[in-house]
Amino acid sequence: MHPRLQRANRLPSLPTVAVEILRLFNSPDSTIQELTSTIQTDPALAVKILKAANSPRYGARSEITDLRTGITRLGRNHLTPLVLSFSLSSTSLEDPEASELFHDIWLRSFVQATAAEIIAEPHGAAFASEAFTINLLAGIGRLSMLKADASLYARCLQQTQNSVQSLEEAAEELFGISPVALSVDILDDIGLPHRCILAVEQIGGGTLPDDVTESERRLIDVTRTASAVADYLCDEDAGIALLTLEDALADSERSVQNLLNAVQNRLEQSAELFNVDPSTIPSQEELLETALEQLAEFTSMVGTEHHERVPSALLEENGRLKRRVEDLLHEAHIDALTGLYNRNWFESQMAELQAVSRVRQQNFGIAIIDIDHFKNVNDTFGHLAGDRVLREVAQALNKVTRDSENVARYGGEEFVLLLEAADHSGMETVGRRLRDSVASTRICFENNVIAVTVSVGIACGCPGPSDQFSQELFARADAALYEAKHNGRNQVIVDSSLAVGSESPGPDSADSPAEPSSCSAAPSDNAT
Ligand code: GH3
Ligand code: MG
Ligand code: MG
Repeated sequence: MHPRLQRANRLPSLPTVAVEILRLFNSPDSTIQELTSTIQTDPALAVKILKAANSPRYGARSEITDLRTGITRLGRNHLTPLVLSFSLSSTSLEDPEASELFHDIWLRSFVQATAAEIIAEPHGAAFASEAFTINLLAGIGRLSMLKADASLYARCLQQTQNSVQSLEEAAEELFGISPVALSVDILDDIGLPHRCILAVEQIGGGTLPDDVTESERRLIDVTRTASAVADYLCDEDAGIALLTLEDALADSERSVQNLLNAVQNRLEQSAELFNVDPSTIPSQEELLETALEQLAEFTSMVGTEHHERVPSALLEENGRLKRRVEDLLHEAHIDALTGLYNRNWFESQMAELQAVSRVRQQNFGIAIIDIDHFKNVNDTFGHLAGDRVLREVAQALNKVTRDSENVARYGGEEFVLLLEAADHSGMETVGRRLRDSVASTRICFENNVIAVTVSVGIACGCPGPSDQFSQELFARADAALYEAKHNGRNQVIVDSSLAVGSESPGPDSADSPAEPSSCSAAPSDNAT
């Protein structure tokens, strides 16, 4: 173990008053008078307690100016967590780098405590207060490591970036003890009750001792789930955290999303009082993306030389979690309105196809398909009709593409398709097929028949060394689309000037507009 962690007093400057409050927390006979006298010894703390008693978070109605009344209003249940929070949040570290890291640890601890409180609330205020306190203290090992050796702690964090190593593992390697194990040691030193220590000890999972009581088990469950919320929101092992959350809440009425929203709302209410800055937490979309990326990475390691690094949850024989991961990945790549793949998926596929085509030195193509005068559909028939048209066009495009090629919805009324190893005339054929399939689709909505056409811009080429090749090809397809629109819509333009072995360089109109059919004009004119 790191020598500085072996010192007797390794508490991260937890003030005597906080230690004293913790002692009172452990003795159910302590009185409000005792609590008040203890808090009075620290004027800064007393001011904060009064402020909390007057804040809407604790249901303030009339203003309180006297500490004892404030403490009575807050009640014993709220008091211990508050004192601890204030003591820890005002921990000061001289080194500016350490102080930044401190804010991250503090935010994470506070997130975990808040999550625990929310999950525990249905079981009563006393249990919620206990859960908050324990989860706030669960991060004390990290705090202690930061205090002992900030640059080593920073190295642990660095080691977890771009690797599948967790902070627990990195710290174990560099400090000789994991942060959770250190928290357990410290809490043991403070003399916290056995059940609290057990809950922290069990954060990482493992088999429970035979003699755990029902209430201990509940505290363990709350703490594990809250720790997963903190991992997820504070971007640590987000993928595994998501699985843990999915699993923990599988039988509960609360969805993962619902819990995360509740935590974020409460964090916002607490921000000022507790000196936390929840604005550094990424958006839900970003978080999900990070988590899914991590899970995809693990999934791709199954059966390779890195197999042993794949968390066991993903390898479970019953495969329930693995299937859920597949569902999550699928959901994240699917456009909800049309059921087609979405832009994220398209972009990942485009990067892959560029890489493959570069190695093979062959062409690939990008087709952009844009509905003509789509705004008229919305304006004439309303947005629901517009949505219906989007779904029908999606199907019309999908049914004429190969099984190995998938149309994606790029956004709004634009669709995209990647074409493997095709030449100029092949692209033309595909483009025409897409255009004709849409033009011949009659869409019934309420008592109207809505007809739409699409314009198609395609570019194909063979990637050179530049990583920007796909972007350039996409821009060319977009320019071809613009030309198709400009030339009157309902037509296909192919640009194969970047292609190898192409017989027809340069943008070229693949055809004249389709034979005028009952569906080929602007939608509003065709409503019947
Ligand atoms: P152009 O032939 O030049 O492509 O004309 P356009 O009217 O199709 O193009 P414009 O870009 O002016 O309008 C696109 C419209 O698509 C505007 C936007 O309100 C509508 N839109 C985008 N997404 C959706 C959606 O999800 N549902 C519906 N109903 N409309 C959408
Ligand atoms: Mg458009
Ligand atoms: Mg359009």
